[in-house]
Amino acid sequence: MAAVAAGATDTIVAAATPPGRGGIAIVRLSGAAVPDIARGLLTALPVPRLATHTRFLGAAGDGIDDGLALYFPAPNSYTGEHVLELHGHGGPVVVEALIARALELGARRAEPGEFTRRAYLNGKLDLAQAEAVADLIDAASAAAARAALRSLQGEFSLQVRSLGDALDALRVQVEAAIDFSDEDIETLPEPVLQASLANAAARLEALLAGCRQGRVLTEGLTVVIAGAPNAGKSTLLNRLTGHEAAIVTPIPGTTRDVLRERILIEGVPVQVLDTAGLRDATDDAIEAEGMRRAQAAMAGADRILFVVDAATDPRCESYRRQRARLPSQVPVTLVLNKIDLVTEAAAPAAPDAPTLRLSAQSGEGLVALRQHLIAAAGLASAAEGTISARARHVEALRRCAEALESARAEQARGGGRELIAEELRRAQHALAELLGEQSADELLGRIFSSFCIGK
Ligand code: GDP
Repeated sequence: MAAVAAGATDTIVAAATPPGRGGIAIVRLSGAAVPDIARGLLTALPVPRLATHTRFLGAAGDGIDDGLALYFPAPNSYTGEHVLELHGHGGPVVVEALIARALELGARRAEPGEFTRRAYLNGKLDLAQAEAVADLIDAASAAAARAALRSLQGEFSLQVRSLGDALDALRVQVEAAIDFSDEDIETLPEPVLQASLANAAARLEALLAGCRQGRVLTEGLTVVIAGAPNAGKSTLLNRLTGHEAAIVTPIPGTTRDVLRERILIEGVPVQVLDTAGLRDATDDAIEAEGMRRAQAAMAGADRILFVVDAATDPRCESYRRQRARLPSQVPVTLVLNKIDLVTEAAAPAAPDAPTLRLSAQSGEGLVALRQHLIAAAGLASAAEGTISARARHVEALRRCAEALESARAEQARGGGRELIAEELRRAQHALAELLGEQSADELLGRIFSSFCIGK
């Protein structure tokens, strides 16, 4: 990472297209030395922004290839620096020869994500937009790609920035009211402050909701399979993954740790966790630890699938007993398993959870379960309004919400305006971090190193 920061003024070069054979390969350069390198590599510096058919020359003036050259002088380029794109024939030998020639002429190889990092450092994109570039490239579904494009085009950043501006304006008013508190004019009456804080909290909540959904698109959905021992949790996990990830036995308490498997449902990555069976009590220390881990896994999940053995527990007693112990903020779907063993339409649905009937063993009802997971995550209707988001964004918005909550609590208890101003500053700071307006080098290193080289 340090090398990236140290060499921030170097001219960089990389293949912008994937390795291998193809119709066209693009080699891209960015930096101050681009005009000089272009004069050495081509017969002349191309006219800006005009596709120019030209020869690409080796050291001895011999031809490496011929193709199109595109020159974007600073600052009107992707990175904000001088950029040259060479569109040659798509073979690895040509690409490597062009890069080698650029290196001889003074460029160095780009680090992963370095072009986009420069675009960010030169103010062409904010951090959330830069992340959306990677998310668009990595998108596993059309919905994820649409959401990433919306973020890249600045929709998300605009909402965050406008909320940040509102918080800033409110803080200035609060501070002004402190300054004038000796005088007899009330500059910011309590009801107005209260309404402004409530309004900001509501806007933040809406942003957080869209962001949570966006995070599922980019980072996937986490589903925990829970339920009493022997309900068929491991069988269900194996059914969903299509292979024997979990050991299935008729002995209760076989799965003692948390098993994680990744599957794709309609292009959405879903992480499925199979947990130790939940029992009211156990003397077995390992099983107790397994149950503790199951609780922790459930608290971090997007949804819990609570599996009930419809044959031995038709009234869902196991769910009724455990319901109070399930994390209240995570939605639950009740899965009535082993319907192949049940003759009548038994099992009244649990009043507070959507219910599905299936047989993990025969596979009946599995298609409906997959559809249910996608629909319940809001992905079936993810077309409009969802923006691409990451856990980092949700985390920053959550910090903002916490600070705003403290400000509201302080206001409600008639507390000091200094404290309210401080909480508003904290809330705004969290939003500024989200957009990368105050980012540590270490955070930038982490974000950009996950990019592909050439982007
Ligand atoms: P877990 O303890 O909840 O993980 O339960 P398992 O997946 O190990 O299953 C317990 C027992 O129930 C095993 O013998 C499975 O073969 C059986 N089982 C699981 N699902 C079904 C089902 O849909 N129908 C029937 N008939 N048996 C099942």
